[in-house]
Order: sequence, then C-alpha cells, then structure tokens
Amino acid sequence: MTDLKGKNIIVTGASGGIGNSIIEKLYQSGANILASGTRIEKLDELKNKYENIKILKFDISQSDKVEEFIEKATIDLGGNLDCVINNAGITQDNLAIRMSLEEWQKVIDVNLTSTFLMSKSAIKKMLKNKSGKIVNITSVVGHTGNLGQANYTASKAGIIAMSKSLAIEYAKKNININCISPGFIKTAMTNKLDDKFKDAIISKIPSGRLGEPDDIANAVFFLCSSQSDYINGETLHVNGGMYMA
Ligand code: NAD
Repeated sequence: MTDLKGKNIIVTGASGGIGNSIIEKLYQSGANILASGTRIEKLDELKNKYENIKILKFDISQSDKVEEFIEKATIDLGGNLDCVINNAGITQDNLAIRMSLEEWQKVIDVNLTSTFLMSKSAIKKMLKNKSGKIVNITSVVGHTGNLGQANYTASKAGIIAMSKSLAIEYAKKNININCISPGFIKTAMTNKLDDKFKDAIISKIPSGRLGEPDDIANAVFFLCSSQSDYINGETLHVNGGMYMA
C-alpha cells in the first residue's frame, strides 16, 4: 500500500498507543512522518525503529508556541505540509461537583484549544498548496457523555463541531478536516480501567471486543488518502458498533 508515498504528515501524541499504530500504518504507506510528543525517550525509540522518521518534542498545551512548532515541523519535513493528525489527548476524570477549574481547563487546553491552534497554523501552510488533510481524534464519549468526564467529553464534542466549521471554511481550498471517533481502544488510557468496568463496556459492544489501535490507524490512513477526497467535516466512528450515529 503506497497511496501516501511522499506525503508529509505530522502526528501528535506519537508515543501513545494509538499514536504508535498511526505511525506504523503511515510509515508502511510511504509517508514522510514527523512524530511529536512530550516524551523524548519514546520519540527516540520511534527514530531508531523507522528510517528517516523526524521527531520533534513539543507540549501542545504551549499555545503561544504552536505556530512556531508547525513552522519548524514543516521545514523538517522538507517545506510542504500535506496532513496533520491531532491525536494527543488526556483525561483528568472527576465527578462534576468535585471537578476543579484546573482539571476542567487543563483538559480543554490540551484536547480542544491545541487542536484548534494546530489546525489553524496547519491550514495557513496548506492554503499555499491549495491542498491538505487534517484528522482530529475525538471520542465516542464526545457523543454520548460519560460519568466523571464532563471536561473530556466537552473537549471531544468541541473538536467535532469545530472541525465542521473549519471544513466549511476551507473546503473550496481543497482542505479536508475530518474526525475519527474511537470507541474503547486497548491503550494506556483504557488499561487504567478496572476489569469489571471493562467487562461491562465489552458487554455493550456488538463486536464483543475492545478496539485495537490498528483499527484507528486504518481509519487515519483512509482519511489521509485520496480515497476520502470528497469526505469533509465528517466523523468516522470506529467503535465495534457500540454507538451508531
Ligand atoms: P495514550 O495515553 O496512550 O496517548 C496519548 C498521547 O498524547 C501520549 O503520547 C501523550 O504523551 C500525548 N500527550 C498528552 N498530553 C500531551 C501534551 N500536552 N503535549 C503533547 N502530547 C501530549 O492514549 P491513546 O489511547 O493512544 O489516545 C490517543 C487519542 O485517542 C487521544 O486523543 C484520546 O483522547 C483518543 N481516544 C482514545 C480512546 C481509547 O480508548 N484509548 C478512546 C477514544 C479516544
């Protein structure tokens, strides 16, 4: 599969479970990848594993440095930017009446504000080429709500609505902005859930299993490829049927 041969792609949250699979899939598809994250030792592992991959440490909550990050990342990739995968994300769960303003704000900043700022800076680059694709990773709970996750669900629902607005603004410039909404996927984020809770979730998934990070990576590949050129402002649900929009 070489559909992404030569495409320059930035992936955030590259050191995480889903990020790792996205890197593997895009690399196998021939893309030039810049992997970004906060954990340099994890990024170094990617550099050792994949020939020619670029790495750039960046904390996406540094809102005043996002433009500079996109600039540097694009230069590292050779001067053109084709796709950005806004995958980095965090949870800081608490019941609403116990949730501090800091817990609310941190999740909104890392998940939603950074996705807006990264998209904004990327779009400025893509406008020059009159082409580009942005894939934002949201979550099934951004549609359904979830206990203890008022901050996280708001951030993920915000990403979906924001992506639709950006898609309307830049569709004529040949820039596609779409979301992927994973269900429950086997990564560090879900490993912290206890087994009883996981079993309860699995009982509600028609496919009868949690998702694999590769299930998300396959959807990312599709939304980066020319196969999805007429799809814009859309959210692709990858959840084994647990939620059908
Ligand atoms: P993960 O915890 O394994 O990975 C998250 C990544 O984001 C890590 O690489 C982490 O270093 C990075 N990150 C966190 N804060 C950052 C910051 N300030 N700056 C830069 N990078 C930062 O989790 P994952 O499951 O791989 O999650 C990837 C994405 O998928 C997230 O946006 C998450 O919300 C979403 N998601 C995951 C699931 C799931 O079940 N695992 C379900 C729905 C959505």
